[in-house]
Amino acid sequence: MNTIQTQVLVIGAGPAGYVCAIRAAQLGLSAVIVECDKPGGTCLNVGCIPSKALIHAADEFHKLTTFCDGQAASTSMGISAKSASIDLHETIIWKDGIVDRLNMGVSGLLKKANVQVLQGVARFRDGKTVIVEGHDETVQVHSDNVVIATGSEPVEIPSLPFGKKILSSTDALSLTQVPETLAVIGGGYIGLELGISFAKLGSKVTIVENENRILPQYDKELTEPVVKRLEQLGVRVLTQTKALSYSGDDLMLKITGTNNEESEIHADKLLVTVGRRARLSDWGLEELSLTTQNGFISIDEQCQTSMRGVYAIGDVSGEPMLAHRAMAQGDMVARILAGQLRRWDQQCIPEVCFTDPEIVTAGLSPDDAEAAGEQFNVCQFPFKANGRAMSLQREDGFIRVVTQKESNVILGLQAVGTGVSELSAAFSIAIEMGACAEDIAATIHAHPTLSEALQEACMAAIGFGLHI
Ligand code: FAD
Repeated sequence: MNTIQTQVLVIGAGPAGYVCAIRAAQLGLSAVIVECDKPGGTCLNVGCIPSKALIHAADEFHKLTTFCDGQAASTSMGISAKSASIDLHETIIWKDGIVDRLNMGVSGLLKKANVQVLQGVARFRDGKTVIVEGHDETVQVHSDNVVIATGSEPVEIPSLPFGKKILSSTDALSLTQVPETLAVIGGGYIGLELGISFAKLGSKVTIVENENRILPQYDKELTEPVVKRLEQLGVRVLTQTKALSYSGDDLMLKITGTNNEESEIHADKLLVTVGRRARLSDWGLEELSLTTQNGFISIDEQCQTSMRGVYAIGDVSGEPMLAHRAMAQGDMVARILAGQLRRWDQQCIPEVCFTDPEIVTAGLSPDDAEAAGEQFNVCQFPFKANGRAMSLQREDGFIRVVTQKESNVILGLQAVGTGVSELSAAFSIAIEMGACAEDIAATIHAHPTLSEALQEACMAAIGFGLHI
């Protein structure tokens, strides 16, 4: 068997792994990366990018349909259209084109950085040796340091196994026909992003959620505008409801609510989005003595696992399972391996939920601040008083700031509204740089923009609200 000796071996070429390998090679280390599928991982192939492409296509189509059915006339914009149609097959080809371009981009970057790419399944033999089974040959890689970046996979409900009419998010992103009726099991961010998209594409969507409200990771105030929008879009939301079983023959989903009474709803397809779990199997975890906790590989502030020279980054290493956390960890570990002094000291990891309207959060929510025992103030500015939001015909939502009582230091920023995802950078920069409400209030914000609402919320936080 051919043996390769390297300084850094990365397993998995998702956002965590490919960033780590490229940075390590840029910093002068020999780097090998193993990938059993396409470069870019979940994010690029079946996650962030394709879902945002579908969301955009659905938005565009939905806007067009509103111009056809006369709703636009009632908003006095004066636009009307005769008809709107969508060929989802074409939409998927367009989406795949974006994915292909990005796949090629990642491959090109790996090549440019001189990273050796091995296509195949990696399996640990011991903490420094990995066997890679490729299509044509099997090679052994011996490395000074190994970085596990095997990512995550969708959780299956045993009584509703993926296949045929029961879809995972990956399957839903490749549908070539819009289902007439769709039941989404799980009202978290992936289920809602996709559920809202299919509603806009014309499906009759029902969301089935076990908890007593959708998007339970956010506070109720933040999710309220999304709930209202779901109503407008005709999406039925069943909370405190459990999906039991599905008959693919008569297309009926059996559910049970709080009263334990069983009932059935019709669904041509089911989309099961009840969470994701770290990919811990099939790569030889049992050959290592790694500590795991709550289904993730335990890591310290340098992403070191319990074994010397073995690192874990990205979804496999814990929450939040987000691409930008994965990339930041990949970059940090490469720098540590190159001898730089680094540790994870980020103040916040922004999170965006690409629903309609979007939700963005960074730092502490009022509930988090309470739990942390902080003395704090909360101020918010509604988009209904923001000129840009009015001109976009989307006045729903607000920006909220949580500040420390004595110092006015910003502890957290949250927003819900159309297009607020783009504010995530401003939110995290403010928190990372230790900004006070005064700093944001005294900064000139271009007019007319949604970010003026950020300035206004901060003005209100120091007792000088202006436009409200
Ligand atoms: P992955 O991207 O999962 O990559 C792991 C790679 O390892 C895979 O390519 C896999 O094939 C490979 N691999 C695994 N085992 C082996 C092995 N034994 N040998 C060789 N290769 C192996 N995050 C965001 O930040 N924003 C979003 O908007 C967003 N939207 C999402 C939408 C959907 C529908 C989904 C499913 C996820 C979304 N995410 C989003 C989450 C994001 O995709 C993940 O957090 C991110 O991909 C994690 O990166 P990773 O590198 O840790 O793992």
